[in-house]
Amino acid sequence: LLSVSLAMTPTSSTTLNADSKERTYIMLKPDAVNRRLIGEILSRFEKRGYNVVGLKVLTPSRELAEAHYAEHKERPFFKGLVDFLTSGPVVAIVIEGDNAVATARTMIGVTKPQASAPGTIRGDLSIDVGRNIIHGSDSVESARREIGLWFRPVEIVDFKPVDHAWVYE
Ligand code: ADP
Repeated sequence: LLSVSLAMTPTSSTTLNADSKERTYIMLKPDAVNRRLIGEILSRFEKRGYNVVGLKVLTPSRELAEAHYAEHKERPFFKGLVDFLTSGPVVAIVIEGDNAVATARTMIGVTKPQASAPGTIRGDLSIDVGRNIIHGSDSVESARREIGLWFRPVEIVDFKPVDHAWVYE
C-alpha cells in the first residue's frame, strides 16, 4: 500500500508557476442567480481545474454596473443592460489558472447564445442575448480593471490547492 501511494505522489515543484496565476473576472448575471444556476456554472470552472479565489453575491449599484459596462455606454442596449444587472443579485467571481481569461471566454461561448456551441455555458444554458447569464473579461487588462472594480484586495485569496501537481505538469 505504501509503495502504491508513493508511486502516485507527483514530483512537481512546490512553487506556483506564474502562468497558473492568471486571473479573470467572471460574473453570473441576475438570470443565472434567479434560475439557480450558480452551482452548475461554478462547477464547470472547478472541474476544469481553475481555482475560485474570490466569490461574493451582491446587487450592484447603478454606478458600479455603469462603470463595469462603460465601454458600451453609447450603445442602444446600455440602459437595459444596466437596469438588468442592478435588478437582482449577481455573483462576482475571480477565477485563477493558466490562461484563465481566454479559456474562460471559450468555455462561456460567444455573446449571442444561439451562436454559442453546445458544450459552452451560454450554448447549453441560454437563448437570448439579453439573458446570456454570464460575463467573462475579454483580456488580461480588462480582467485587472474589472477585478479592481468588484473586489477589494483583501477579498481575494492567495493559495495553492493540494492537487496542483495533478492539474499542471
Ligand atoms: P460579452 O458579454 O460576450 O463580452 P459584449 O461585451 O459585447 O459581450 O456585451 C456585453 C453584454 O451586453 C452582453 O453579454 C449582453 O448581455 C449585452 N448585449 C450585447 N449586445 C446586445 C444586444 N444587441 N442586445 C441586448 N443586449 C446586448
